[in-house]
Amino acid sequence: MPGLIKCNSCGGTYPDKQHAGCDYFHACGPIPNPAYQPNPALPNFDLQQYIERPNKRDENLLPNPTPGLPPVMVNAGTGVTPV
Ligand SMILES: [Zn+2]
Repeated sequence: MPGLIKCNSCGGTYPDKQHAGCDYFHACGPIPNPAYQPNPALPNFDLQQYIERPNKRDENLLPNPTPGLPPVMVNAGTGVTPV
């Protein structure tokens, strides 16, 4: 039974990479812009307007700034919890 990982930033769950059978790099989805929610009377109200969450986790990899060292995660957000 593959383990699951819960993203502490967005609450999403996904299979533990070691058991998933393929690489998966979680990145939190955007959230509705809180500046315009939930009051449609506000100027610029637009249900389709989204922003990135402030604590967004993004497991995609970037080259390490130090040559020769392993790639680094874009942003760890608030981490993960095994579930
Ligand atoms: Zn997430």
